[in-house]
Amino acid sequence: MPQSNLKVSIVEHTPNPENIVALAAKMCYSKCSVDELRDKISKNDQRDFIKKLISMGHLTPIEHVSITYAVEGVSRALLAQITRHRIATFCVKSQRYVGERSGPSKETFNYIVPPSIKKLGDKYVRVFDEQMKTIQGFYDFWHDKLGESEKTIETQNEDARFVLPNAAETKFVFTMNARELFHFFSLRLCMRAQWEIRAMAAKMYKLALGVAPVLFSYAGAPCKFGNCKEGTLKCKKGTTP
Ligand SMILES: Cc1cc2nc3c(=O)[nH]c(=O)nc-3n(C[C@H](O)[C@H](O)[C@H](O)COP(=O)(O)OP(=O)(O)OC[C@H]3O[C@@H](n4cnc5c(N)ncnc54)[C@H](O)[C@@H]3O)c2cc1C
Repeated sequence: MPQSNLKVSIVEHTPNPENIVALAAKMCYSKCSVDELRDKISKNDQRDFIKKLISMGHLTPIEHVSITYAVEGVSRALLAQITRHRIATFCVKSQRYVGERSGPSKETFNYIVPPSIKKLGDKYVRVFDEQMKTIQGFYDFWHDKLGESEKTIETQNEDARFVLPNAAETKFVFTMNARELFHFFSLRLCMRAQWEIRAMAAKMYKLALGVAPVLFSYAGAPCKFGNCKEGTLKCKKGTTP
């Protein structure tokens, strides 16, 4: 199936994230040993402490928590946006080492169909599919042509890919710490963010809530906290979901 759909999962995350945040923060103000702190923290509810920490803007302790996500079924257009976030580590499927030459089954490279095109109905989705097939033809042409002169499959792949569209599917694994995730969610859960990265951020946010429900309850688009700064560009939808 050449059309792809968004899939987000967590590969790994810091264990006991809220306890680690509390331990790191309390280290700043306590004479206790690490073992004593750890013991106290495990016996007491840290909810109010985390709330206080975040309301004070004391965010360094939350940097001790990180989440590694895997994302599949997204476009290269999304990749260009997410990799603008610099406090993150990415490993992305390579278009050099992984070719998109159509095989005997004549399948095309995978791609993402924007919802606005799906909304126009099946007739227009078929037009989009045909356009992708045409592009696949361009890719195959260059792949074969370069195969006559270039010595390695990587060279064929890396230059044939120049004709691939922004819709081409990619997948990647990336890690962000919780402070960067707060920043990422504030920008990308906002209704002003582009639809695909917003949909991805929404799935990431739901998963993050499962990892550290107290901590991430304080993350979200600024409107969630009555703090929209978009001015005249405000979405007028009230709060984001
Ligand atoms: C709705 C929307 C529209 C956008 N449109 C465009 C566009 O048209 N064109 C475009 O080019 N980009 C656009 N962007 C991308 C945007 O400009 C940022 O590159 C992207 O959101 C990453 O944000 P950031 O730089 O704040 O955060 P990150 O890179 O995630 O960094 C987090 C924070 O760390 C700090 N930081 C990181 N690196 C440095 C540094 N070198 N020096 C000082 N402080 C640093 C900053 O405080 C920063 O906010 C858009 C983003 C959004 C959300």
